[in-house]
Amino acid sequence: MNKQGHSALALLAGSATSVTALTTSPMSTSLEVIGFAGVVCTASILGGFAPDLDHKTSTASQKIQLSSGKRKLMRALSGIFLCIGFALILLGYSMQAGSICIGAGIVAGCLARLRTIILIASGVLMLVGYAIYEWHWMALFTGIALLMMPFVKHRWIIHSPEFAIILSLGLYIFGSQYPGLVVTSCLGFIAGWWSHLFGDIFGSEGIRSLFAPRFKIALRLFDNGGFAERIISKLCQLCSIVIWVWYGVVL
Ligand SMILES: [Zn+2]
Repeated sequence: MNKQGHSALALLAGSATSVTALTTSPMSTSLEVIGFAGVVCTASILGGFAPDLDHKTSTASQKIQLSSGKRKLMRALSGIFLCIGFALILLGYSMQAGSICIGAGIVAGCLARLRTIILIASGVLMLVGYAIYEWHWMALFTGIALLMMPFVKHRWIIHSPEFAIILSLGLYIFGSQYPGLVVTSCLGFIAGWWSHLFGDIFGSEGIRSLFAPRFKIALRLFDNGGFAERIISKLCQLCSIVIWVWYGVVL
């Protein structure tokens, strides 16, 4: 499933989570309901795209890196600047100019690998928060996951049901400390994450268990971005509208 399908499934998951929460603890004004639903559905859509951060060119990854053309350009510039910089220093022309060229080469190299750098930096931040500031153990789990993300195979550990179970438990336990919007947003993110795995099951690659790799679920019902996916996306959007109309009219 690609961007359209995953976003529609995540929106449906977020709408269902929001309405369930609003049914159990109603809000007094429409503005509060809209704000609440907006935050929870956003969390769900983030959760619906996040698993594909383990893929170099997924929608989620494209948000934290330059376009393919610019990455190629930065890689080429990095190589050129580094060669010129080292040549200037080694041939004894100018230490200062050489250093500047090497610096420019390193910066261009970093820009070409922005996704890797952002994921690793975020992971390190989480681990530092856990180790020094005694953040929740979810910070340790998230930190390790972010550090692994650029190096693991697409649809392996990050897409496994086992990873999703620990993530769900951790987020729920963490969110439960802050009732209301925080816990519901955590539930929205969890719902979005599972909606992504559910969406991937329809395709030929499917998802597989981490500890029992032979246990794979792949329904092979349609190809990514095909006609069937577009129909399912429209149906999910329709269901989301029905949920909100039902909430507005009946509740
Ligand atoms: Zn996926």
